Amino acid sequence: MVRVLLSIVVPCFNEEDVLARFHDHVTAELSRLDGDFEVVYVDDGSRDGTLPLLQELAGRDPDRVRYLSFSRNFGKEAAMLAGLRHAAGDAVVIMDADLQHPPELVHRMVALHAEGYDQVVARRTREGDRVTRTLTARLYYRAINRLVDVELVDGVGDFRLLSRRTVDAVLELGEYNRFSKGLFSWVGFRTTTFSYENAVREQGRSKWTFGKLLNYGLDGLLSFNNKPLRAAVHLGLLLTVVALGYAAWIVGDALVNGVDTPGYVTLLVAVTALAGVQMVMAGLIGEYVGRIYYEVKRRPHYLLKETSGAPRAADTRVTGESLWETVAPK
Ligand code: UDP
Ligand code: MG
Repeated sequence: MVRVLLSIVVPCFNEEDVLARFHDHVTAELSRLDGDFEVVYVDDGSRDGTLPLLQELAGRDPDRVRYLSFSRNFGKEAAMLAGLRHAAGDAVVIMDADLQHPPELVHRMVALHAEGYDQVVARRTREGDRVTRTLTARLYYRAINRLVDVELVDGVGDFRLLSRRTVDAVLELGEYNRFSKGLFSWVGFRTTTFSYENAVREQGRSKWTFGKLLNYGLDGLLSFNNKPLRAAVHLGLLLTVVALGYAAWIVGDALVNGVDTPGYVTLLVAVTALAGVQMVMAGLIGEYVGRIYYEVKRRPHYLLKETSGAPRAADTRVTGESLWETVAPK
C-alpha cells in the first residue's frame, strides 16, 4: 500500500463538550493507520470553549493538529470549504466533531481509497431517528432526485473520504451558495458507498431546527438547476389553457342559454387561487435572483480570525480565491 498523508477535516461549532473525547478517539484510531495524518479543525465562530480547546490541542501536537478559526459563525458549508482548502493530505476525510461519524470507519475508507476509489462515502442508516424525520427525508429524496441532475442519496452526508483530485475539483467550484452534498456528487470520479449504523449524538445538541432543515432542503432543490422555473412555466401554461377553456365554455353557454346568474364564487376562488400561485412563482423567481445577488457580490465564504502556526506548503494550493481569505495580524 502506498503511504499517504491523510487529512481529517472537522468543522466545529460549540463542541466543547465532545471535542476532547473526539480528539482522543480520532488520534488513537489514526495512529494505527499505516501512514501520516493531520487533523484540521475549523472553529466556526463558536461561542463556548471550543477555540481555547483547539489552541491547546494544536499546541500539544503542532505537527499533526492544526486549526482555523472564523471571525463568526459562517455555517458548516463554509467550515468544510476552509478545511478542504487548508488540508494538505493526499486524501481528505470530512468528519463531524460530535462522534456521530465513527472514527473506526476511517480505516475502511482508506482501504477502499487504496483500491482506487476517489470518493468513499459513508451512508448512515436512519435508526434512532424520529419517524417523522425519516419519513420526510424519504419523501424529500424521492422528490428531489426527480428534479435535480445530480444524484442525492438519503443517509449520505458529508462523512466521506475524498482523493486529492476530488478535493481540488470541489475547490474549483467557487460558488457562494454551497450545497456540498450536491457538489460532491457533481464532481463525480470513482465513488463507492458503504453503510454504517447511525449513532445518536452523545453530547451537545444538534444545530438543526425544522426551519433550518426546510431551508437546507430548498437549497438542495434550487442550487443545481432551473427545473423549478421550468415547472413554474408549465403550471402557468396549464392554468392559462384551463382559464381559456372555461372562458370559452361560459361564452358558449351565454350564447346558447342566454346570460345566467353571475358566478361570483367561482370568480373569487379563481382570483385567490391564481393570486396564490402567482405569489409562489414570484417567490421562486426571487429565490434565483437572490442567489444571483449573492454570487455577484463575490464576498468571501468566511473570514479567518486566527490559525495555528505558519501555513504549510499545502496552503499554497489555495487558488486565487485566497485573496478573499483575510487573516488578522496576530
Ligand atoms: N457545525 C458547524 N457550523 C454550524 C453548525 C454545525 O461547523 O453552523 C458542525 C458541528 O460542530 C458538527 C457538524 O457541523 O461537527 C454537524 O453538526 P450537527 O451535529 O449539529 O448536525 P447533525 O449531525 O444533526 O446533522
Ligand atoms: Mg451531529
